[in-house]
Amino acid sequence: MKKNILTQFIGISILVIVVIIGTGCNNNQKSNNARVLLSNSSAIENQEVKGEVDNDLLLSEQKEQYESNKIFHKSKQKQEKSLKVYKEKGIPVLMYHSIGFEPKNDLKVSKEKFEVQMKYLKDNGYTTLTMEELYKALNYAEEIPEKPVVLSFDDGYRDNYTEAYPALKRYDLKGTIFVITDLIDKSSAYLNSSQIKEMSDYGISIESHTVYHEELNLLSYDRQFKTLNRSKKDLEGITNKEIIAVAYPVGKYNEKAIKAVSEAGYKMAFTTKYGFAKKNSGIFTLSRIRINGSDSMETFKAKLGA
Ligand SMILES: [Zn+2]
Repeated sequence: MKKNILTQFIGISILVIVVIIGTGCNNNQKSNNARVLLSNSSAIENQEVKGEVDNDLLLSEQKEQYESNKIFHKSKQKQEKSLKVYKEKGIPVLMYHSIGFEPKNDLKVSKEKFEVQMKYLKDNGYTTLTMEELYKALNYAEEIPEKPVVLSFDDGYRDNYTEAYPALKRYDLKGTIFVITDLIDKSSAYLNSSQIKEMSDYGISIESHTVYHEELNLLSYDRQFKTLNRSKKDLEGITNKEIIAVAYPVGKYNEKAIKAVSEAGYKMAFTTKYGFAKKNSGIFTLSRIRINGSDSMETFKAKLGA
């Protein structure tokens, strides 16, 4: 009995000791494990934080790259779309006459209205073309700039110098004046040669509107050639530059006139037919967009195709 009790006691004691040792071990290991885990996790955490920063940077850089690619792509697409539109539709050549107010005279655009229109072109990224630039753009699609437009003025009124020219300079825009050469230096209502020379030197295209504003369809071929040739030579004498374009007075022309224009050495001729200028509708019968004194800003924008 005694032996049995002793054996039981020893057995229980061993069990207790084993349990105690085991628990202690376990605790130690647990805390060790926890320590390792903790240090590991903080290392991981550190790594993760570091990684997160790197990733963030990378991501934001990638995002930035992506965004800039997108913007580049979009602007390229926009430019290509704009190119495609102007290549297909042609280029708007706006037609003005006098810049000054006169009630019930729709050919005159007030200087205030003209100023607002010029500001609009400047603020909205339009590129005004000289005659040489238009010629290139009509012939070579890659020469078409973004939002091209030509500003043309018929007859050579004095207010083109006193009103239009300062506004063009203010907004850094280019224009073209079709001058009736017989009126130069003859009347205070029309341009004189020093004004023509000054504007030409500045970069305004000075082009022909014939000598006497003749309706070419009513003239013989010889007289057509004479007025086209003489006005060209007269203007070249003043500007010391090649005159490359003519606007048909009152928009009138015929087959003979087209031949005379070509023979006289012009590269382009303009009618008053409404529309965008396009090479395939004839380089000597280019359309224009008439701007009226009564046009609202909405009408002006619509005429630009905006
Ligand atoms: Zn005219």
